[in-house]
Amino acid sequence: MTTHQDLIDRDRKVTFHASTHLRDFAHGDAPGRVITGGKGIHIVDKDGREFIDGFAGLYCVNIGYGRTEVAEAIYQQALEMSYYHTYVGHSNEPQIALSEKILELAGPGMSKVYYGMSGSDANETQLKIVRYYNNVLGRPQKKKVISRMRGYHGSGIATGSLTGLKAFHDQFDLPMDGILHTEAPYYYHRAAEQEGMTEREFSKHCATRLEEMILAEGPDTVAAFIGEPVLGTGGIVPPPEGYWDEIQAVLDKYDVLLIADEVVCGFGRIGADFGSHHYGIKPDLMTTAKGLTSAYQPLSAVIVGDRVWQVLEQGTGEYGPIGHGWTYSGHALGCAAGLANLAIIEREGLTANAAETGAYLQERMAATFGDHPIVGQARGVGMLASLEFSADPEKRAHFDPSLKVAPRIAAAAMEENLIARAMPQGDILGFAPPLVATRDEVDEIIARTERAVNKVTDELTREGVL
Ligand code: PMP
Repeated sequence: MTTHQDLIDRDRKVTFHASTHLRDFAHGDAPGRVITGGKGIHIVDKDGREFIDGFAGLYCVNIGYGRTEVAEAIYQQALEMSYYHTYVGHSNEPQIALSEKILELAGPGMSKVYYGMSGSDANETQLKIVRYYNNVLGRPQKKKVISRMRGYHGSGIATGSLTGLKAFHDQFDLPMDGILHTEAPYYYHRAAEQEGMTEREFSKHCATRLEEMILAEGPDTVAAFIGEPVLGTGGIVPPPEGYWDEIQAVLDKYDVLLIADEVVCGFGRIGADFGSHHYGIKPDLMTTAKGLTSAYQPLSAVIVGDRVWQVLEQGTGEYGPIGHGWTYSGHALGCAAGLANLAIIEREGLTANAAETGAYLQERMAATFGDHPIVGQARGVGMLASLEFSADPEKRAHFDPSLKVAPRIAAAAMEENLIARAMPQGDILGFAPPLVATRDEVDEIIARTERAVNKVTDELTREGVL
């Protein structure tokens, strides 16, 4: 019989992994794990050990694991017509139906859908749309894109440039030219309160910083702004009060397009169909992936608003067919999975559950960790939450990064058979359970997290850190 260890040893010889120490993993000095199954909010590894997946994979398995209905839909579609390309006007039935559904959910002002396989490639498409749009309008110099520090938009050359995290830049000589980063809407991190700023004032400050950047670069060179409705991988940070209104006013003033990166927030995660709906954002372009199929198939979708679409349409008169396309765009199996997934979200009221059980999750997090000696902030919205650890919550002091507090707590949570994610920058532990989670399951997540946080707190006390 193949053991778990056999599989890990074979894997080390032939595969390398994202966000993994390449040499340590290859030489057996970093752990591996092979996942073999899942049901609801749980996953199981090759040893049969069961974990609560408090992060829904990478915040994507919104309907939970093991949904046979989606597997059936993929199987039936594969029997009927597994693939044909979607170039030169070719389509397939699931693609058409899924586009109709996405536009229905996105609401007024949204016009067309284009598919890819990942959030990164969808944002790559967005960057090309932005360039094309300004070329058609005869503004070849209006091409720069402003993103935010701590934003996450992918890990390609262009999309890794949009991402505002150090590890994604330093190793690859990024960001590339033409991509800039403005202030992150990170009220806690900036310790704005201690500088005497209210949340609203901090939002205004972020908008002023954005405006200064646009003016310094020249408004006729700035094409677009991209942001996640809620900062995700950069720390799971809901925006400060009034942030999006302030930002949108600046973008309107200088005719800068707004791309809402809904890869995490889209399809129910924060208790609305889209984060844009929750915060009153009126994007020109929306990027979606993850929750679109709950990761039963890789699929992303770019949603193009009317204002942009009207210009793109004119472009084909001038340039002919658009020079953009992926072999797998509108993949029939991906679209079939998307339809089955969105049907489950609708039928089971999972967006409403994300709002209601999500509010319970936020309440429990705040009640359990609000006054904890090493928790600086418990924050979140809907089924998206994080704990930011602090050596002195009163002063919002950071732990020495070498202590690796969040990874240690994530490891302690693993010992409790709970997966929570140590976010890549700062001492932050992230939670994004599947949207099917119940109150009892939330209680279990909280109980296991509390034991893990307390265990590391005791260790830090013994080490003389606290
Ligand atoms: N945008 C956001 C907001 C994301 O969180 C992610 C992935 N975590 C991406 C884009 C990139 O998606 P992918 O990893 O599928 O390329």
